[in-house]
Amino acid sequence: MAKRLEGKTILVTGASSGIGKSTAMEFARTSPKSLKLVLTARRIDTLKVIAEEIKEEVGSGVQVLPVKLDVSNPSEVKGFVDSLPAQFRDIDVLVNNAGLVKGTAKAPDIADEDIDVMFSTNVTGLINMTQAILPIYKKREDGGRGDIINIGSIAGREAYPGGSIYCATKAAIRSFTDAMRRELVATRIRVMEVDPGQVETEFSVVRFYGDKAKADAVYAGCEPLTPDDIAEVVVFNAARRENVVVADTLIFPNHQA
Ligand code: NDP
Repeated sequence: MAKRLEGKTILVTGASSGIGKSTAMEFARTSPKSLKLVLTARRIDTLKVIAEEIKEEVGSGVQVLPVKLDVSNPSEVKGFVDSLPAQFRDIDVLVNNAGLVKGTAKAPDIADEDIDVMFSTNVTGLINMTQAILPIYKKREDGGRGDIINIGSIAGREAYPGGSIYCATKAAIRSFTDAMRRELVATRIRVMEVDPGQVETEFSVVRFYGDKAKADAVYAGCEPLTPDDIAEVVVFNAARRENVVVADTLIFPNHQA
C-alpha cells in the first residue's frame, strides 16, 4: 500500500478536524517516506498545529503544507492552485471532505443562512475544488490521471426528519460523483465516494451551533465510528492498483444499521 502512494501529493479539504485531520494523518502513516500533504481549511492556526503533529509522528519524510482556504469562496479556490509552492502543485489525490450541517429544523423553518452555508460548502465547495484540480489531472499523459475522493454521507441515501437540506446536499454529491465517474470513463482519473454513517467529530457541535452538551447527547448510548475508521477506508481506496476503482463505499457503526 505504501509503495503505491510513494511520492504522491495529497490534498485534503477540511483537514482542521475530524475525518479530514485523521485522513491526513493516515496518509502520512501509510507512506511516511516521500509523501506531500496539502492541508486546507479556514482555521489556519489549527492546521499549523496538525502539520507539526504529523511531522512529529512520522518524521520529515512527509512534507506538510497548511493552507487557509474557504471552499465556498469561488475566488479563493480559483487562485488556490497557482498560489501553492511549485513542489506542491502536482496534486495526485483530492479528498473533498470539507462539509457541515447546521440545525435540525424541519423544512419550512430552516433559516436562509443555514441553507446557503450547507449548499455553498457541501455542494458548490466540492464542485469548486474539483474544477480547480481537474485540469492538473487532465494534463497528464494518456488522457489524464489522478484521484478524487468525495466524502458523502449515509444521509445522501436515507433522508431523516430535520435533515432535509443536509440530506439534499449529500444526495447532490452522490449524483455529481456518479456523473463525473461516467464522464471520465477510460481515463485514469478515478472518482470515488465514501459515505460515512455516524462518526464522532466536531460535526455535531457545528450542527448545534457550538452547544457541546447537545452534541454529546447525540452519541449517548451508542458507539459511533471514529474519524480513523473513515480515514483508513479513504487511504485504502487511494492505494488500490490504478485499474481498480472503489467507486462507492458505505461505512457505518453496527448500531446504526
Ligand atoms: P468536522 O466538523 O470535524 O470537520 C469538518 C471540516 O470541514 C473542518 O475541518 C472544517 O474546517 C471544514 N470546513 C467547514 N466549512 C468549510 C469551508 N467553507 N471551507 C473549508 N473547510 C471547511 O466534521 P467531520 O469530520 O465529521 O466532517 C467531515 C465530512 O464528513 C463532512 O463532509 C461531513 O458532512 C461528512 N460526514 C460526517 C459524518 C459524521 O457523523 N461526523 C457522517 C457522514 C458524513 P474549518 O472550520 O477550519 O474551515
